[in-house]
Amino acid sequence: MAKPTSRADLSEATRLLHGAETPAQKLGVEARVVNPPLQRASTVLMPNAASLYASGGAPTYGRLGLGVQAALEGALAELEGASHLALFSSGAAAVTGALLAALSAGDELLAADGVYRPTRRLCDGTLARFGVTTRFYPARATVDEIMALVGPQTRAIMLESPASLTFEMQDVPAIAAAARAKGILTLIDNTWGAGLLFKPLAAGVDFSIQALTKYVSGASDVFMGSVAVRRPPLAKALQTLMLETGWAVSPDDCYTMLRGLRTLPLRLRQHGESALIVAQWLQTQPEVQRVLCPALPSSEDHAIWKRDYSGVCGLFGVMLQPAPPKAVEAFLDALSLFGLGFSWGGFESLAIHCDPQIQRTAKPWLGLGPLVRLHIGLESPDDLMADLRRGLDAFAQACEGEA
Ligand SMILES: *Cc1c(COP(=O)(O)O)cnc(C)c1O
Repeated sequence: MAKPTSRADLSEATRLLHGAETPAQKLGVEARVVNPPLQRASTVLMPNAASLYASGGAPTYGRLGLGVQAALEGALAELEGASHLALFSSGAAAVTGALLAALSAGDELLAADGVYRPTRRLCDGTLARFGVTTRFYPARATVDEIMALVGPQTRAIMLESPASLTFEMQDVPAIAAAARAKGILTLIDNTWGAGLLFKPLAAGVDFSIQALTKYVSGASDVFMGSVAVRRPPLAKALQTLMLETGWAVSPDDCYTMLRGLRTLPLRLRQHGESALIVAQWLQTQPEVQRVLCPALPSSEDHAIWKRDYSGVCGLFGVMLQPAPPKAVEAFLDALSLFGLGFSWGGFESLAIHCDPQIQRTAKPWLGLGPLVRLHIGLESPDDLMADLRRGLDAFAQACEGEA
């Protein structure tokens, strides 16, 4: 097509805008770069008028996701064994998206008492406001106990196993099968499983949710979440939701996330190996009452973990001997390798005390002592155990001071 004007005829402003057109693909057709091209675009320029409304499936607007988003979605769908996967701006937003895709006004949701706290807030707040009621069931409820709660309005069951903070597990395959037999949808927050250690869709769960912010990123520097589904009507529901809500993720964040995903299996193996060393050592320390980690043979949930999981991640709980809150703070404040911060899944070790945020409405949490959550990072386990021993010394000293 002939250009109507030569460059010299254009105003300076126009020339400035058109002076840096995207260069034509410089590589030959056989040459490829390793990573997808990072395209920062809202507008997509189509080759002709007809293709504006008939693109043959190609994205016509940046919000729908371009090359990097598609590359990340494809890789994660592969990991999840999904037919369709949607990306969200955070893990919390992914929980929201999955529940909005599954539920309508008038529906009832059954949710585990041990769900991630923002999930509970969503259920009690926005979902309630839009006419969805939530009933919570005990965090370690059996399939029969859950199915006994099902009523005529029950549309979905929100699972989290292991539970946030307290690590109770559920028999997810049995619950998924029983729910499906009754036409009830199941969703699971599988952030602990990282898409790798447990495969919810293969276990019969309808929606597999993950906070990619944690292990897929692995570097504590980017937020994102994913929802994966296998059944075509659910894929359609998710696609429609994304179009209607306008939610989107940035190509830069997807690029960062894709970089993390490449090394997920390697990192997770190391986190798990170190976590087991530290967890087993903690069990032998006098200040520790119990370690909450389903991979430990002493755990109440060990049989379920062993049957369903291919490994363990770096996150577990430590129940200390009964002590005043000041002693728990002394323990945390004496740590130097463990950062005191929320979130987990990055390369670094982290610790928080949990009691201020444990919430239960179905069955009270009967913690027999203060609960601390540890994330075991990629540091040497020997260094981490030495750091924890210093913390436990401070804890013991603070307890003595109190007595
Ligand atoms: C962190 C977390 C989320 C939320 O992820 P964000 O990206 O921080 O919003 C959801 N579920 C679980 C279990 C989490 O630990």
